[in-house]
Amino acid sequence: CGIFGVVGLSDAANFVALGLHALQHRGQEAGGIVSHDPDQGFNSVRRFGYVRDNFTRQSLMETLPGPLAIGHVRYSTAGAKGAAIRDVQPFFGEFSMGGAAIAHNGNITNADALRKELIERGSIFQSGSDSECIIHLMARSLQRNIPERMEDALRRVEGAFSVVAMTRTKLIGVRDPLGVRPLVLGQLGEGWVLSSETCALDIIGATFVREIAPGEMVVISEKDGVESHYPFRRQSSRFCIFEHVYFSRPDSIIGGRSVYETRHQIGVELAREAPVDADLVCPVPDSGTPAAIGYSQESGIPFAMGIIRNQYMGRTFIEPTEQIRNMGVRLKLNVNRALIEGKRVILVDDSVVRGTTSRKIKEMILDAGAAEVHFRIASPPTAWPCFYGVDTPQREKLLAATMSEEEMREHLNVDSIRFISLDGLYRAVGEAQGRDTKCPQYCDACFSGEYPVEPSDMIAKGFEL
Ligand code: 5GP
Ligand code: SF4
Ligand code: MG
Repeated sequence: CGIFGVVGLSDAANFVALGLHALQHRGQEAGGIVSHDPDQGFNSVRRFGYVRDNFTRQSLMETLPGPLAIGHVRYSTAGAKGAAIRDVQPFFGEFSMGGAAIAHNGNITNADALRKELIERGSIFQSGSDSECIIHLMARSLQRNIPERMEDALRRVEGAFSVVAMTRTKLIGVRDPLGVRPLVLGQLGEGWVLSSETCALDIIGATFVREIAPGEMVVISEKDGVESHYPFRRQSSRFCIFEHVYFSRPDSIIGGRSVYETRHQIGVELAREAPVDADLVCPVPDSGTPAAIGYSQESGIPFAMGIIRNQYMGRTFIEPTEQIRNMGVRLKLNVNRALIEGKRVILVDDSVVRGTTSRKIKEMILDAGAAEVHFRIASPPTAWPCFYGVDTPQREKLLAATMSEEEMREHLNVDSIRFISLDGLYRAVGEAQGRDTKCPQYCDACFSGEYPVEPSDMIAKGFEL
């Protein structure tokens, strides 16, 4: 998901709408904005579909007045399938000291247990979303102000969370102690901005101030500026390495590094680790493009747009049903026949999950008369599900969970398939020594099976580590 918040700018909701539009790649199912105005109080709009189709109408934006607003774009992950408008964030709660709204990116790994406990003690849930637990935990806290109630609540929550929240006067941002999901701080004139990624600061002309640190909570008001707290026990950070590979936008900056540069470097590493004699390097657009450019430059094999993407389709993976996903590949991608015929083609994609995309693309490329097809993948084999906010399917459905590289080659019926090594990926993100096996610098559980936070709800449901 994508989250965004603004304090100290008039008609803050307009800025939030723009920010959410720039974060649309993080969630395309639905979006919502809550604003607060000293005269009109809290207002909220939640809608299915794209930001640009909902939050551009003036008549609608006029219902969201005030200098303080937060928003969310939704991408449902495991457990929260089947969209209902009541699951669309931000969530709002009324407390004795006033209202608060929250928007959450990530996944709470003990949400089932918390929900059960909260329901037994009388909480009335409005949605099926794990994020709603935070509001109920806040309601039960005995602290006297909302930021302290939020600290209380988040200390009970396990898993991955970046949160943007608001009271009547304050904008609040929090990252979980491992900092699995991103969150950055920006500034625009007298106003402050919180965003999942820096690309959404650019769209409103805000300057990037810094990342919110893992385990940090910032409380921001027009009056007092930015106050920083560290409510959790300090731990070493474990940012999601897959944000670098796929999830973030290539024009964002993470940890002082351009995501584009990192992806380009992944391609360079991949060309060193897995060279092959061929005529063309073609990306599977858009997610494979920077890595394909890196592969081409390092190998000296010409880069070509052998597959063309229809710009009017979203991210295929994010369509929640299998059937739509199957069609989706053809709706989105088509082979550029004139380039491919008779050629030995290297196809570069960011990841193989179920193998749906690779299988369809291989068929299309061979239909177009390619002489050979070689897959080069910009992440290691995805062999484990993510429980921290990226929607990977159950383990059985992951191609790499049951097949070796050679078995995948046979299954896809291609000339070769190679994945970047975990160490190669770490080098590409800037860890010259590769992965520290004792204390990995990133979360890489979907590749390594080493989960930095025990997925306790899933274990209770029978998931085996
Ligand atoms: P597959 O078709 O193998 O199931 O999925 C791989 C494709 O899905 C890749 O082209 C990748 O760009 C895309 N993708 C989109 N969202 C995700 C995601 O959340 N996780 C992963 N691993 N791949 C995703
Ligand atoms: Fe990111 Fe993978 Fe960890 Fe999920 S399991 S947070 S996708 S690195
Ligand atoms: Mg892709």
